Amino acid sequence: AVMVKESVRVYARVKPLGRRQQAGVYSVDEDEKSLSNLEIIVPHDLADGFINNKRESYKFKFQKVFDQEAKQDVVFDSIAKPVAECVLAGYNGTIFAYGQTGSGKTFTITGGAERYSDRGIVPRTLSYIFDQLQKDSSKVYTTHVSYLEIYNECGYDLLDPRHKASRLEDLPKVTIMEDPDQNIHLKNLSLQQATNEEEALNLLFLGDTNRVIAETPMNQASTRSHCIFTIHISSKEPGSAIIRRSKLHLVDLAGSERVAKTGVGGHLLTEAKYINLSLHYLEQVIIALAEKNRSHVPYRNSMMTSVLRDSLGGNCMTTMIATLSMDKRNIDESISTCRFAQRVALIKNDAVLNEEIDPRLMVIQLKKEIQELKDELALVTGEQRTSALSQEELLRLDELIEIFLGDSNPNSNLNVGADMRKIKYCFSRMKQLINHSKISDKKLLLQHTSEEKDTNREGGEEELKKLQGLLQQRNNEINILVNMLKKEKKKVQDAVFQLNAASLGSTVLEQSLSVNLEESQTPSNCFSLKEAKDFNSSVHQLPFLSRQ
Ligand code: ADP
Ligand code: MG
Repeated sequence: AVMVKESVRVYARVKPLGRRQQAGVYSVDEDEKSLSNLEIIVPHDLADGFINNKRESYKFKFQKVFDQEAKQDVVFDSIAKPVAECVLAGYNGTIFAYGQTGSGKTFTITGGAERYSDRGIVPRTLSYIFDQLQKDSSKVYTTHVSYLEIYNECGYDLLDPRHKASRLEDLPKVTIMEDPDQNIHLKNLSLQQATNEEEALNLLFLGDTNRVIAETPMNQASTRSHCIFTIHISSKEPGSAIIRRSKLHLVDLAGSERVAKTGVGGHLLTEAKYINLSLHYLEQVIIALAEKNRSHVPYRNSMMTSVLRDSLGGNCMTTMIATLSMDKRNIDESISTCRFAQRVALIKNDAVLNEEIDPRLMVIQLKKEIQELKDELALVTGEQRTSALSQEELLRLDELIEIFLGDSNPNSNLNVGADMRKIKYCFSRMKQLINHSKISDKKLLLQHTSEEKDTNREGGEEELKKLQGLLQQRNNEINILVNMLKKEKKKVQDAVFQLNAASLGSTVLEQSLSVNLEESQTPSNCFSLKEAKDFNSSVHQLPFLSRQ
């Protein structure tokens, strides 16, 4: 799968100062890498010595700092639009706002109700996404939205129509389920289809209304709850079996304000605790993720970290917006928010293109492809192909195989044409024949050893016997001849002796005789047939013997 490794992008946005608020001292400047530096100065004269034991200057780095006058459209263009692009391409995305109550989280994520230009990231993103979907006719898109509120570790479906009539406590709770692949599923959270911008906006307003209704002075739901508006997009090219699914979470977190703990003797401890427990767990998750060997990340400690698990250290392009209230009284909280943001900036995510194959569509597509190939083949060969060969074709092939096997010419070919079905049939038929003949060979071999009555072998033995007989006969003849020669030689020698005695006679005859005798004096039973034959013929050629 296509994977993009990217750090979480972290932005800061400073809220305009309220009428009765005293400005804190801070400055924003851009560095060489076009990142923004935010410096916050803490004056020593701050009321009741709250933070007078602290450093004076705090510096933080952000992707960009949006100062008080930054408008919603600018914020959308630089923060949300790139994420929306990724989501349209099939990656998961998350944008979450983090900051103390009143710092502008809801204004940034959802927007202000007074002016149209105050629309926040959610309505602008919906508008942008539906615009893009409409422009792109190359794919079929389906969009759904869900709106989840997490309050006191309980999940509520803000799009549940029963919301209006019931109290928050009476609504069915959204619960987390984990499948064997450790994917998170949310039970009781409805996915509402939205086919256009208007439908999606209506759902957003419905959810926001439910959020407001649930809020009472007793349960400060809006500051203590997390709200997650999610846009689900699935896309498919017509005729393709590959579906891309992506989610965009737009998250308005609970207020990040901390309680300053009073230590022994009434001194304020610098380590303040979150009012909201799940933000404490979020911080733990982020600390674990920022550590080099992240063996265990405590996602399961809270519902919010479970839901956002993929957004933090997982398959997601994630962006954080730190909302800051830079009046004198809130400087401390702003520094906490910035510190948290710096840790989040260390997290690296692996965003994966979420593609899956619809097996049902795959079957349809393959069937279509097979038919097209068949048609093409029929066009080329001029004959319609079916998966099976006809009876006549099979008989014809058997005939060809028989001719081929019977042909002693080593150059003969078995040509059945360029038809894989026929070629396959020939191979399997020949295999059959080979296996069959192997079996009958074995049977024959067994018969031979038990009866020794095979015609081939009998023929061989007969010939061997015949030849052995012939050999014996020849040996006998040779022996007779040798004996004859010996006698003859003796006679001759005697005669020569007598002749020598009379006159010094010729030795020609003697020489010739001794040579031939030496050859014949090595009669053996084991010499080959060829040798026997040669000997036979050479015997006949001996002038002496023929003379005899
Ligand atoms: P939070 O959700 O963080 O508690 P809100 O978004 O409700 O804070 O903001 C508190 C008040 O400040 C609201 O009345 C809101 O309209 C206003 N506000 C926040 N940010 C801006 C801004 N950038 N420009 C104008 N008004 C803002
Ligand atoms: Mg809010």
